[in-house]
Amino acid sequence: MVGEQNLSGGTSERESKPTLADGAFVDEVRRFLRAALTENLRRAGRNTIGVHSDIEACRTWHRRLYEKGWIAPAWPKAYGGMGWSPAQRLIFERECADNDAPVLFAGGVRNVGPLLIALGTPGQRERYLRPILDGSDLWCQGFSEVGAGSDLATVQTRAERAGGHYIVDGSKIWTTGAHLANRMFALVRTAVGARPQAGITFLLIDMSSPGVAVKPIRSIAGEEEFCEVRFDNVRVPVADRVGPENEGWAAARLLMRFARASNTTTGLLRRAFRHAAAVANSHAPSDSDLMLALSELKRQLEVFESLELSILSSTAQDGVTDAQASMMKTLATELHQRITEAALDAAGPLAAPTPRDTGPHYLNEGAFATRKYLATRAASIYSGTNETHRNLVARSL
Ligand SMILES: Cc1cc2nc3c(=O)[nH]c(=O)nc-3n(C[C@H](O)[C@H](O)[C@H](O)COP(=O)(O)OP(=O)(O)OC[C@H]3O[C@@H](n4cnc5c(N)ncnc54)[C@H](O)[C@@H]3O)c2cc1C
Repeated sequence: MVGEQNLSGGTSERESKPTLADGAFVDEVRRFLRAALTENLRRAGRNTIGVHSDIEACRTWHRRLYEKGWIAPAWPKAYGGMGWSPAQRLIFERECADNDAPVLFAGGVRNVGPLLIALGTPGQRERYLRPILDGSDLWCQGFSEVGAGSDLATVQTRAERAGGHYIVDGSKIWTTGAHLANRMFALVRTAVGARPQAGITFLLIDMSSPGVAVKPIRSIAGEEEFCEVRFDNVRVPVADRVGPENEGWAAARLLMRFARASNTTTGLLRRAFRHAAAVANSHAPSDSDLMLALSELKRQLEVFESLELSILSSTAQDGVTDAQASMMKTLATELHQRITEAALDAAGPLAAPTPRDTGPHYLNEGAFATRKYLATRAASIYSGTNETHRNLVARSL
């Protein structure tokens, strides 16, 4: 929907507002999803508890999207992306959610890929972008440490230069998918300066390097989704440093900016809402208070979708401000949590898990609601806690 240019270089009053009602595009997406999503993939999408679906389903779905040329909606076309508008990206996410597509494990496509496009050397782009797109490399994010979460600049994992390598020692924690990923992008300390942000370096680490040890951690929801990762004399080639030594903080901030500009949350919320509505319809169809609460949540979801569309459309590719991103993350998290609370209410006594619900197949719908509820508590912690995001919004005001 391209608006007319006016004489001052802006767009005219007559430009249509971005909308999610682009019929031709919606039809194209639906046709593809109908053909590409097998029942197994849809089941994996429906059974998703945490931040991604069953990993084998993720791999298959990633591959199908890659073959279609639709794996990197926000990347520039020159690097294998699609250059879709924010409205098209949101439509795609909405349709994936409504058709139970698996939720991808996509730190490569969403985070480190855009960073390498912006800041990587030609050699890094050559080596890493294609395997991100085709799904042969899976990336995890090694930022947090014990004692360096909200206060990320205090990372202590050391990297010392020895010829053409860095020698990395230390540990990371809460690393989502470290047991699945073959690569990590990480923040390490290469110098101790006056400001903790100075002296941090951004490295790309091969998880099969000698000295890397990964220990999964079971979450309260019963999933083994994140891990502790230890580094004992791990050699990382200097060629795998992104940006200058000691200036990794700037690379990390840029990565977050790209992630914020390209990621959308609408799909996640829609999936949660569809689940809550399904539980309510099958277990509490005559509970009018619950139905009223669900219709209010649906209204809030629609408001959030409009807000996300308007913010992403009114900012340039990397132009979402820190405050806008923090506001959207906090609103989405709180809405997500309220939706999973409604699912728990709808499940009623069924929500108490039984021993047979501890396996990978969640036979009891109520126990599934409990796990989703528990898993969603983590949303106000990962990618920055709600308190730190509120601080950021307050500072910007
Ligand atoms: C499911 C999940 C997945 C994750 N995946 C990853 C990952 O892949 N990679 C990665 O690097 N990290 C990951 N994390 C870690 C996450 O980023 C950190 O847990 C988060 O940044 C909080 O840090 P912390 O746990 O050290 O808590 P702390 O920073 O110690 O915070 C503890 C409490 O104090 C509050 N607090 C802290 N500072 C302030 C302040 N200035 N003002 C007000 N309140 C404050 C916090 O809001 C929180 O409630 C994940 C976490 C979870 C739960």
